[in-house]
Amino acid sequence: MADLVLRNGKIVLPSGIVDGEISIEHGKIGRIAVSGLPKGDKEIDVGGKTIIPGVVDVHVHFYDKRFSNREDFTSGSSAAAAGGVTTVIVMPLDTPILSIPSIEKAIELGSKSSIVDFSLHAGNMSPDSIGSVLEIASAGINSFKAFTCEPYQMGYDYIQELMFRVRSVDGVTVVHAEDQEILSKDLGQLRKRKDPLAHAMSRTSEAEKRAIENVVGLTGRTGCKTHIAHVTTGEGCDAVEKAKARGAPVSAETCPHYLIFTKEDMEIWGPYLKVNPSLKSDSDRAALWQALKRGTIDIVSTDHAPATREEKEKGWADIWQAPAGVPGVETLLPIMLSEGVSKGRLTLEQLVNCICTKPATLFGLYPRKGVIQEGADADLTILDLNCEKRISADELHYKVGWTPFEGMRVKGTPVMTILRGSIIADGGEVIQSPGYGHFLARWV
Ligand SMILES: [Zn+2]
Repeated sequence: MADLVLRNGKIVLPSGIVDGEISIEHGKIGRIAVSGLPKGDKEIDVGGKTIIPGVVDVHVHFYDKRFSNREDFTSGSSAAAAGGVTTVIVMPLDTPILSIPSIEKAIELGSKSSIVDFSLHAGNMSPDSIGSVLEIASAGINSFKAFTCEPYQMGYDYIQELMFRVRSVDGVTVVHAEDQEILSKDLGQLRKRKDPLAHAMSRTSEAEKRAIENVVGLTGRTGCKTHIAHVTTGEGCDAVEKAKARGAPVSAETCPHYLIFTKEDMEIWGPYLKVNPSLKSDSDRAALWQALKRGTIDIVSTDHAPATREEKEKGWADIWQAPAGVPGVETLLPIMLSEGVSKGRLTLEQLVNCICTKPATLFGLYPRKGVIQEGADADLTILDLNCEKRISADELHYKVGWTPFEGMRVKGTPVMTILRGSIIADGGEVIQSPGYGHFLARWV
């Protein structure tokens, strides 16, 4: 007998949306049928609601002992679970994940305290750690984060060397792409200003474009799969598109804050919207939506990187004193459903592809994650596409207690999250205990 049967759902399958039922056995999807599945141990009638694969957010910062006042595995993964996200890949913030002991420590902590399944990116890579790629890969981590700019800048020659190594383990190099030479030049006089907009003005489209062009140029020589993190500009999208047209093994992501806000919003939100790369213009925002629809931008991840109110508040007097980053993992799905699907910018199938299937595929988790099909992990998120509400930090699970999307009206929201057959969140309330989440070793 199946452990759980979900009935009366609109199921988003790779082949399209069908009315049907799903049975779950031992944490895996057993059968998918239009009707007639045998009775399960437990049954849920989802009442015609939509069922998508659990969301895979490949860019979150949950883990850094120095910054556990901002978020930790338990608070971050609670937010993920409530927001319909069942798998996260944790990106290093400041504490390096570059050696077997540091990896083991992160895995141990995550296994004890995460509610959702998780993996890790190695980083932040430096010239000294290029030699550790093979060792890191042996621990099940095959993505490596590198910066073309401060504070973890690696020269392009070192990035090339890294890419040769990463290619040899068939991994992915993840790049924060803003060219330091251009950033330094543009910062010049702006450094004397202290208002929020000065920060946004200091990080230009040109810096992003140049770095992306340089990095994708290196894929020709190295053949290394390369993922451009958080693309923010139309010119950045064009650079990615040209590289893909040449057949370069390049993928790209953007984040909800770049799809929703422009730098003008910093006039209201000030340091709370300080992010790196910075927010750009209205036309860049429009270009990102177009690129997402075309598939030039492959995925949406959140770059969930909260800072406390106290830390952010310092930026009103001097923007350079505030840390960059916003929380986002819990609002990813409602925002993309509302601004993407409800507003007709993306179909539901396109959205599922860019927040579930594609991220799982790019980072070696597919078909275990990211898809509803027989044999996959039973990671399912049930959506109410008609539910309208306002986003309020009071209802979210972030440790920092604020969201840049406060007050935003959304249509469409997750109502239940299932991970490996177990309900982990129901009606926005987390009902699974820390430690349920598994570490996922990846061989991409
Ligand atoms: Zn990040």
